[in-house]
Amino acid sequence: NKIIIALDGHAGCGKSTTAKSVAKELNYVFIDTGAMYRAVTYSFLENDIDFADPTEVSKALDAISLKFVFNPEKGLGEIHLNDVNVEPFIRNMNITRRVSDVAAIKEVRQFCVIEQQKMGKDKGIVMDGRDIGTVVFPTAELKVFMTADVEVRAKRRLKEMEDKGEKTNLSDVIADIENRDYLDSTRKESPLKKAEDAVVVDTSGLTIKEQVASILNLAKK
Ligand code: C5P
Repeated sequence: NKIIIALDGHAGCGKSTTAKSVAKELNYVFIDTGAMYRAVTYSFLENDIDFADPTEVSKALDAISLKFVFNPEKGLGEIHLNDVNVEPFIRNMNITRRVSDVAAIKEVRQFCVIEQQKMGKDKGIVMDGRDIGTVVFPTAELKVFMTADVEVRAKRRLKEMEDKGEKTNLSDVIADIENRDYLDSTRKESPLKKAEDAVVVDTSGLTIKEQVASILNLAKK
């Protein structure tokens, strides 16, 4: 029986890396909801949308279509904005710095949540985000809340960015992670919080392999 696995938690604790592997093991679809908020942010910045103007925001959203297109070479879905693969443009610092502001907009959340619920209607998904267990799929069969020590998270993220050739330093990465956690947890619309029935997994001392194993274990129960 296929289930929905909701994977929420703080920025940079390895949610999507873990979700990807869990989905592969179970032959499930992996959905990175952060990529959707990032793609919307990219579109708003490209089109110079005033985030504070709800009419302008709604109009901008009407012109957006988001889709995950499976890339067989990478073995996973990539986010397409109006049929253009924007995966290469959404993971940089410029987007990362603005995404929490965009994700706090009510209209943006409604838009993304509806799309996410459509994607999960057949179950057999691992969805990672901030509000999956609380808002998108409150009846998900398995809810996991991932967290880790901020310095551990920053060091991992730094390594990832360096591997991609992005220039940055540890204190900037720590500042970004703390800032996003703060904005995500204190916003009015669907703040990041643990669902009451979510299992907490602290990944500070875990390898990716161990994180994956712990979630597969929970999924089998
Ligand atoms: O997961 P990722 O770091 O790519 O998410 C980027 C940002 O998108 C988060 O910091 C958060 O502000 C927002 N987000 C959200 N709800 C989700 C997924 C992401 O608000 N379900």
